[in-house]
Amino acid sequence: MANSNVPVLAVRDLKKHFPVKKGLLRRTVGQVYAVDGISFTIGVGETLGLVGESGCGKTTAGRTVLRLTEPTSGTIEVGGTDITHLPKGELRPYRRQMQIIFQDPFSSLNPRMFAGDIVGEPLLVHGVSSRQERQEMVAALFARVGLRPAQMVNYPHQFSGGQRQRIGIARALALGPKLIVGDEPVSALDVSIQAQVINLLQDLQRERQLSYLFISHNLAVVEHISHHIAVMYLGRIVEYADTRSIFVRPQHPYTEALLSAVPVPDPAIKRQKRVLQGDVPSPVNPPSGCHFHTRCPYVVPRCKIESPPLREIAPGHHVSCHLR
Ligand code: SF4
Repeated sequence: MANSNVPVLAVRDLKKHFPVKKGLLRRTVGQVYAVDGISFTIGVGETLGLVGESGCGKTTAGRTVLRLTEPTSGTIEVGGTDITHLPKGELRPYRRQMQIIFQDPFSSLNPRMFAGDIVGEPLLVHGVSSRQERQEMVAALFARVGLRPAQMVNYPHQFSGGQRQRIGIARALALGPKLIVGDEPVSALDVSIQAQVINLLQDLQRERQLSYLFISHNLAVVEHISHHIAVMYLGRIVEYADTRSIFVRPQHPYTEALLSAVPVPDPAIKRQKRVLQGDVPSPVNPPSGCHFHTRCPYVVPRCKIESPPLREIAPGHHVSCHLR
């Protein structure tokens, strides 16, 4: 991964389908198309925001690129190496390079462990056996994420929500990763605390050339941290572009609808409000053609039959819609 032209992460046509089983014999009667052929790359020191409503497959996508869930098909390359089918032992060095931060720091931290031991656990697992050395490394990590090293002997319940997320970040940083997947990492926090945690993540990115896959249901949250944004709907990416293009010239009707819910700080600028009707349809039996046709205000007969490919309609701006 020394060559900075090689993406930290390159995902091609990644699919994750879960079988739906029924009856006494647990026969497979269908598939959940959770992730259905997504492709993207993340460069060194870059952030890709992966956005969509709950149930669109973004969390499964994040877990699959880390191989916490095994992909159905497609490829995952880390620093130019295809890790899609690497056996566990060979995957280990790549696991060190890719860490995850969860939405709910409280449930992801062991309540019976000292915060310092939680942060130091990955070091122990990956061979830093000297307790003294671990303590020093953990104290430095605590200080870096804005916690006092004296708090290493506190339990998770003794911290606020924002501080618990800082523990999660310190733990993710322990092994010096190149990529961090943040699965709704600030969604459970108050708005003012969200900004602090995002600022910390940005500072760490600049300092350590970290790359992020930042998963969120909220476009406003990903705006400030993302260099590129991929909008997901029912297992597929429907729009993929740099952050400015997504916010200034959204091309997919679904992106338009998500954006219309984002408050604009300048009262002189008004966005037309587009309220999406209904929920995301079930990924077990997704609508034919364009998956979005059941909720799209611009639907034409062709949309119900033909699935629109993700096409590059301007340099670096990809959209999946028959009308673009
Ligand atoms: Fe809407 Fe049709 Fe475009 Fe799908 S392809 S987003 S249904 S206009």
